[in-house]
Amino acid sequence: MTAFVPPIRADLALEVPYGAPQVFAPVLLNVNENPFDVPAELAQAIGAAVAAIAPNLNRYPDREAIKLRAELAVYLECESEITVTGNQIWAANGSNEIMHQLFLAFGGPGRIAMSFDPTYSMYPEYARDTFTEYRTFPRLEDFSIDVPSAVAAIAREKPTIVLLTSPNNPTGTALPLTQMIAILEAGLEINAVVVVDEAYIEFRRSGTSTALELLGKFPNLLVTRTMSKAFGLAGVRLGYAIASEQLIDALRIVRLPYHLSTVTQVVAKTALKHWGVLQAEVSILRTERDELSSWLIEQGFTVAQSDANFLLFGKFADRAVVWQSLLDQGVLIRQTGPQGWLRVTIGTPQENDRFRAALLLAPGTEQEAGR
Ligand SMILES: *Cc1c(COP(=O)(O)O)cnc(C)c1O
Repeated sequence: MTAFVPPIRADLALEVPYGAPQVFAPVLLNVNENPFDVPAELAQAIGAAVAAIAPNLNRYPDREAIKLRAELAVYLECESEITVTGNQIWAANGSNEIMHQLFLAFGGPGRIAMSFDPTYSMYPEYARDTFTEYRTFPRLEDFSIDVPSAVAAIAREKPTIVLLTSPNNPTGTALPLTQMIAILEAGLEINAVVVVDEAYIEFRRSGTSTALELLGKFPNLLVTRTMSKAFGLAGVRLGYAIASEQLIDALRIVRLPYHLSTVTQVVAKTALKHWGVLQAEVSILRTERDELSSWLIEQGFTVAQSDANFLLFGKFADRAVVWQSLLDQGVLIRQTGPQGWLRVTIGTPQENDRFRAALLLAPGTEQEAGR
């Protein structure tokens, strides 16, 4: 018999599946999850809600997730004081799936998606899978976007998708509205969709704005959000987009039929009803972030200003040494972003204390931090 070689696309032949190895450690501060277990009252409500719909799982889900989208609109009114209709919202299995649909609808062969590095490492994968060309432009020293260059690049390269991430991962940097406006205007000139990935927006500091404020003015704006971070429901896989109805309707064309299970829809609706208790956790995490940031600065480290639930800090001559020492002490963080920097997710107060203690004992932290 002839040996079988899977006929994978030539451009995928040398690729490997995405993701850092899933290492175990007692303190997991590596993937920006919410560190708190799902609150007991929410966990029970989820169990009851799933039990209630279980007998009807012989039926396909609501393809359009009408009720969930309407309830997400109510949540946005409460969280961001922005009024949108359910028809301006789209939901999918994580904002990863939203992004994937976005590339299917607006990317494709011969088209360009543009982003600003360092940024989220998943974007190039969506581009690859959809035969979209991915072009990235460097951020400035402080990780902000060089807006005049970005505007010029948009006019020159004519992307169909421009990706802005605010707060940005892995830097935590939020993009001010005035800068967003300049980029949205440049995008509108050439008919590009400007995506603002707001995965971490609920952690923003007071005074930081959400792109939702610009929805009425820019039909080319699409904002993505998720329940994976502030809601503490990364395991549920629920992300959503907010945009003009025109853009949302385009996403509906490329979605798989029945993409969002009835179980996911019911769990997400239940979580929305419990936003109050989750909001209290978000507020603890914001305080912890600001305290940890000040502490790192006091220790002589450089810390990127963060509106998210993580901090990028450095700079280390050899970050791998520091990362390994923390892991040896039971604290897993992430080697990501530019050379010399490490990213730590904000954990519970106890976990953050373990991180502080471990960092003080780690070799390789002295030279550049001047400790
Ligand atoms: C974590 C993260 C997401 C969330 O993805 P989900 O698929 O919703 O879990 C999206 N964008 C960025 C930049 C992230 O860091």
